[in-house]
Amino acid sequence: MCGFVGLIGVDQASGAAAMALQALQHRGQDACGIGTVHQGRVHIYKELGMVSQVFAGGALSSLPGTAAIGHVRYPTVGAGVRDDTQPFHTRRPGVLMAHNGNVTNVPQLEAWLQRRGIRVQSQCDVEPIMLVFAEGLRGNKVEHVIDAVRDVFDQVRGAYTCAAVVEIEGEDALVAFRDPYGVRPGVYGRSAGGAWCVASESVALDALGFESGGEIPPGSVMILRPNQPARIESIRRAESRRCIFERIYFARPDSRMEDGRVFQVRWDLGARLGEEWRKRGLQADVVVPVPDTSRPAAQAMAETLGLPFREGFIKNRYSGRTFIMPDAIARQNALRLKLNPIPEIMEGKRVILVDDSVVRGTTVRRLAELVRAVKPKEVHLAIFSPPVRNPCFYGIDMPSKDELVAARVPEADWARTFGVDSVTFLSVEGLRETTRTPSCMACFDGVYPIPVSPEEAAAIVADRRGGGV
Ligand code: SF4
Repeated sequence: MCGFVGLIGVDQASGAAAMALQALQHRGQDACGIGTVHQGRVHIYKELGMVSQVFAGGALSSLPGTAAIGHVRYPTVGAGVRDDTQPFHTRRPGVLMAHNGNVTNVPQLEAWLQRRGIRVQSQCDVEPIMLVFAEGLRGNKVEHVIDAVRDVFDQVRGAYTCAAVVEIEGEDALVAFRDPYGVRPGVYGRSAGGAWCVASESVALDALGFESGGEIPPGSVMILRPNQPARIESIRRAESRRCIFERIYFARPDSRMEDGRVFQVRWDLGARLGEEWRKRGLQADVVVPVPDTSRPAAQAMAETLGLPFREGFIKNRYSGRTFIMPDAIARQNALRLKLNPIPEIMEGKRVILVDDSVVRGTTVRRLAELVRAVKPKEVHLAIFSPPVRNPCFYGIDMPSKDELVAARVPEADWARTFGVDSVTFLSVEGLRETTRTPSCMACFDGVYPIPVSPEEAAAIVADRRGGGV
């Protein structure tokens, strides 16, 4: 998972890009970068670390220009080294690009490029996308850009939303495209002054005061130039399959996605979970969210069940998000730092602990230990998504079945494994019926919208293991 922003027609675009990236920091904390174009020259600054650290010094002043591409990185592929940090740039033709997603046929693309004498230098999968795009760019007119994106859709398999700065008829243009299934998110917006922005989530537009134009349409390319209307060209239509996990966990609750505000989606999932929990005939005294993602769902569940909702943990704001930390030890240590229970809320009570998802199971086990230490009467785990039983090959770090606790451990042993009295996951039907748009739910139901061959799956798993994620 990563976050990107693209800007055109903005004074000191690098400063605006840094602000937008801070709004998207939750999508990747491993590394970040900004590239700008000024008078035909590309300037890039990228480094490991968070946006506020990397761009704290004078880095932004070395990035002149009114067009920028920015990126925050979460390493699903590659070793998490600086060379794999985005954006990437190629000179002839000049393309500056960043993306969010996961390409599933990188070896095939590398072989195709190699036959044309082009070498992929990094392990970052935006590089082959950019090189296929650049290879398809046979002129500097709008139609050439559309043809180049058509080439990308023909060649590149997987989930990807891309933003690039490209020169069109002597002027820089912002180009954005999204794979035909629209698995990874992407939005666009415009400022009152006629500048354009594309980004992973609408919170980046909010941070800059841009008015949202909506989603980058799946299977389409957008060509955006200052003070001109957007050109949107539909190239390949497929039934879109947006990642449901974005709405469950990754996206900020104040972002708007295709089916509305993420906060509302989580609320609806929590209400449905409440109904499913009640049908089990279990009893409880208090509903406690695992901060922060679970809060709307836990509130909705509490309302549905007529139970008090209480904050039972204080979160240390200065520790990172555990799931997107790049290795298991970092995740364990971070969790210890991250949450501290308030004993008075849970002691002697039957507690429903609400969380967003269970992937490896380490977090819920540790959480259950924390809660047990304050002596509740019972601990009931309620998860507002179904069990994750299948790996994701489209950009989220759940690469192999042997890491997924719900795939490894029989259902009858889940409560004992997690150290709780009961476990209730939202059903797959509950998720499907609550979600308003057709979505990828492959990690839950095993239905993969974009085929991944066993060889490709093995290569993705091997890459991630190499990267320690
Ligand atoms: S498999 Fe799961 S995490 Fe991956 S894109 Fe589909 S819904 Fe999202």
